[in-house]
Parts: sequence; C-alpha cells; structure tokens
Amino acid sequence: MAAGRRGDVHSESIDNYLKAVLSLGGPEEQRVTSTSLAERLGVAPASVTNMLQKLAAAETPLVEYERHKGVRLSAAGRRRALEVVRHHRLIETFLYEVLDYPIEEVHEEAERLEHFISERFEERIAAKLGHPKIDPHGHSIPTMEGEMPRRESIVLAEVMGVGTYVVESVSDRDAERLRQLEASGITVGARLEVRRGSAAEGYTVRVGRGLGDVEVSGETAREIRVVVGG
Ligand SMILES: [Zn+2]
Repeated sequence: MAAGRRGDVHSESIDNYLKAVLSLGGPEEQRVTSTSLAERLGVAPASVTNMLQKLAAAETPLVEYERHKGVRLSAAGRRRALEVVRHHRLIETFLYEVLDYPIEEVHEEAERLEHFISERFEERIAAKLGHPKIDPHGHSIPTMEGEMPRRESIVLAEVMGVGTYVVESVSDRDAERLRQLEASGITVGARLEVRRGSAAEGYTVRVGRGLGDVEVSGETAREIRVVVGG
C-alpha cells in the first residue's frame, strides 16, 4: 500500500500501532493495554488513547477499543498489520540474502521501507527469494493471504534445568544484542545446550560444538525462542 494520509493521521504511524497490537497480543491475540502500547511505541499514554479512539471510530474500524479493557485488532486491522509484517520480513530477507546486509542492520532499514513498497515490489522480492517462509531472524513471513503459521517454541527464559534446544528465532529489536548473539554463535538454527540457569539468574549455555560456555542474561533469554531437541 502506498504511503499517504488517512484523515489527519499518517498511515505510517497507523501501521506502527497495528503492528504493535499484533505483536503484543501474541498468538492468542489477547487484548493489549494502552500502557504497554505506550511503552512499545515510546509515546505518551494520552496519545495512545487518542489514536486508538480514532482507529476504532474509522469508517472501517481497525481496532476494537474499550478504555478499561484494552484493545485488539478488528479483521481489517489484522489484515493490514499482517501485510506490513509481511513487507517488513520480506525486506529483511532481501537485505540479508541479496544485499549482504549484516544481520543487526536489516531491522532498522525494514522499519523505514515497510510502509512504502508497492504490491508489485513486494511480489518481486518474494519471487526473487523463492517465496521464503522464514526471515533471517527466524520469524514466520505471513502469506499474501495474511496467514501466519504458528510454531511450537518457547522463550529461552521459560527453560528450567538442563537440556538441549535449537534456536528458532531471535528478536530483531535490539541491534547491539543481535550483534553480540551473532558473535557468540547464537543464531537461527544453532544448537544450545543449557548447562544451568534460570530466568532470574541468566543462563550458561554451550553453543553448537563450541567448547567454551556462553553466558546469556535473563533479559536476553526473553528475546530468544527455542524448540526442544537437537
Ligand atoms: Zn525486523
């Protein structure tokens, strides 16, 4: 969809609200509080309330919003959010695989470009990449039809006790953290042997066939999704 204005609100900022509601609601699409939205978007709670009221009152409402119950996406809002996420993840894959961007730089670039690419450009990228299903951070790319397959994984911070896991995905939001994880070999598909730890204390892991131990803080462990086995 082309960039532009809808009413007096930039569609770029609408997109960011819809994406944040989608992401914070999780796979169960739970209602999201305006406080958590304000935190995620880095804006004042009053602006969030204001925007949500506008989105709920639009001719085609993009969200369902009740002041004390929080917000969730309408069918139209969900469709739009998934389209932007598809753009974002295809752009990241393109930058990483075709343009050889470092992994920690693709997110910021995609945050800008996702609002502006045309449907034709999106289709060309997808075709060029062989219609990928996963982006370089391990996240599912929604289909053209707006479906995003759910995957059975847990965050590393939920792991208790020792065990062997495979990294399914790593959050793309913090470039510095991504760079450090990459340097430790903690990337999508890497095998992690959890040797000790907990969400409160952080984890000691062995990566792949590496001999040394790597320390992962509890905070970072919340940004890594893993599947059992490997
Ligand atoms: Zn990203």
